[in-house]
Amino acid sequence: MIELKNLHVPAAEGPEGVTAAAAWALGIPRNEIKSLVILRRSIDARRKNAVIFVFSVAVEIDDEAKFLKKKRGRFTRYTPVKPYRFPYSFLSPETRPVVVGMGPAGLFAALCLAEAGAPPVIIERGQPVEQRVMDVERFWETGRLDTASNVQFGEGGAGTFSDGKLTSGISDLRTTYVLKRFMEFGAPESISYLAKPHIGTDRLRTMLISMRQHLTDLGCDIRFGARLTDIEIENGCVKALVIDGEDGTYTFPAEHIVLAPGNSARDTFEMLEIRGVKLSPKNFSVGVRIEHLQSAIDGANYGEAATLGTLPASDYKLAVHPEDGHSVYTFCVCPGGQVVAAASEEGHLVTNGMSYYARDGENCNGGLLVSVSPEDFGHGALDGIAFQRRLEEAAFKHGGGDFRAPAQLVGDFLAKTPSTGPGSVLPTYKPGVTFCNLWDVLPDFVCRALAEAIPEMDRKIRGFAHPDAVLTAVETRSSCPVRIERTEGQSVSVKGLYPAGEGAGYAGGIMSAAVDGIRAAEALCAHL
Ligand SMILES: Cc1cc2nc3c(=O)[nH]c(=O)nc-3n(C[C@H](O)[C@H](O)[C@H](O)COP(=O)(O)OP(=O)(O)OC[C@H]3O[C@@H](n4cnc5c(N)ncnc54)[C@H](O)[C@@H]3O)c2cc1C
Repeated sequence: MIELKNLHVPAAEGPEGVTAAAAWALGIPRNEIKSLVILRRSIDARRKNAVIFVFSVAVEIDDEAKFLKKKRGRFTRYTPVKPYRFPYSFLSPETRPVVVGMGPAGLFAALCLAEAGAPPVIIERGQPVEQRVMDVERFWETGRLDTASNVQFGEGGAGTFSDGKLTSGISDLRTTYVLKRFMEFGAPESISYLAKPHIGTDRLRTMLISMRQHLTDLGCDIRFGARLTDIEIENGCVKALVIDGEDGTYTFPAEHIVLAPGNSARDTFEMLEIRGVKLSPKNFSVGVRIEHLQSAIDGANYGEAATLGTLPASDYKLAVHPEDGHSVYTFCVCPGGQVVAAASEEGHLVTNGMSYYARDGENCNGGLLVSVSPEDFGHGALDGIAFQRRLEEAAFKHGGGDFRAPAQLVGDFLAKTPSTGPGSVLPTYKPGVTFCNLWDVLPDFVCRALAEAIPEMDRKIRGFAHPDAVLTAVETRSSCPVRIERTEGQSVSVKGLYPAGEGAGYAGGIMSAAVDGIRAAEALCAHL
């Protein structure tokens, strides 16, 4: 196949125009292209009156060797990148490994271990995704929270009720492997080539069921409603786990544990600290969700091309660095999505965002976050969690004490006056919002940083500071406030414990957590 990079297709033609563009670039009639594989697709919207799709493709034509010779080096053959392969196989350990947590990190660790011949016992405090969806939907309708089965806890982990964005800042061969495995379990093929791939919460949920079936077929022992509550340690090595299961508490002998509990497992971090596992505080971020009309964001990004109907719902990525040292940035933007209630503790309110694959909702929402460090919340390992809890408690109280979220219009927030109701942007958060003054809810330095950043961001995305845009508080769980210190994949203080994923402090997002889970499985297999 012949590789073509940087092919431009005008937005008006839509992505289907790629074959014509490839034929034009090669100087051959369209019908001479036998097949075409998209390697990458992005959108260049820097010139609003000339928005284009930018493609890299591999094209199959007759007699490629002759064609390439005739074109004298103007084109090159496509050489696929060597795929990642898990480097261990045929293991048969004396004691079964255990994976704690069925988020992306735990799932990929379990997958690699099972396929290498060491199917683990998998401990998940939450419920299978079918039950979990019902528990979460009931919470959103009624405000009745299940502290074991919610947006943070259950099969699939924290990203199950998400936009399923798979972008990550890491450069690692394992990312292509993760995409390939996701596609095998039902993710859309577009994730293999889109510059900003996403799965959507609907497709994620069905993928998880296929993944569970595969793990079960490989011999994994999956235990839902099973919470790790303690670790027995002898001579600095793990000896057993104490598990609070559906039939009571039991002790389970275990020497090799991938610990992937996500960033909301506060009780687990408390237990680890008591057991002498070395933890450190780390920087994280807090803030709000901001909601605009999707049409306004598309207009700001695409200009007139927004009305063509050929371009996907758009997002943004903005950052401002106010003088007081607290960076403000947008995070986890969900085009056509909704703001979700993401609490996992009674009396503590948390927001986040999700979208369906179609991204066809009325609004676009994004996290609008202020970075915080131990200077803001204290230097103890668990001080960040205490800080999160204070903000979540304040949000719960100001929302009315029933998981309605405190909210304010951007215009009122900038004027420091309470809001009394929505304008043109209708908030999507369920079970509902209570309009108020967020300056009474969030710490002053957070409000000041947000108030400075919003007008700055409006210079990049026109309408970002629209007075009717809605701010919903509080977003505290975008990353982990704790790190479980590790060396060569193992806890520095307890042998046999392999901390992984976002909760261990080594990942942020679905993709990097999945990659870190694979790394944990590699480290564990090296010791086996
Ligand atoms: C609403 C929402 C939307 C998001 N959207 C995106 C997105 O679009 N793209 C993106 O990249 N990231 C997104 N994220 C972040 C992403 O979900 C996380 O980065 C990722 O899930 C972290 O993976 P993990 O495996 O490390 O932990 P988690 O996914 O948090 O999984 C940890 C699992 O461990 C279980 N567990 C915890 N403690 C115990 C215990 N003691 N015993 C047994 N089980 C335990 C939990 O129930 C959970 O299932 C979103 C998060 C949320 C909440």
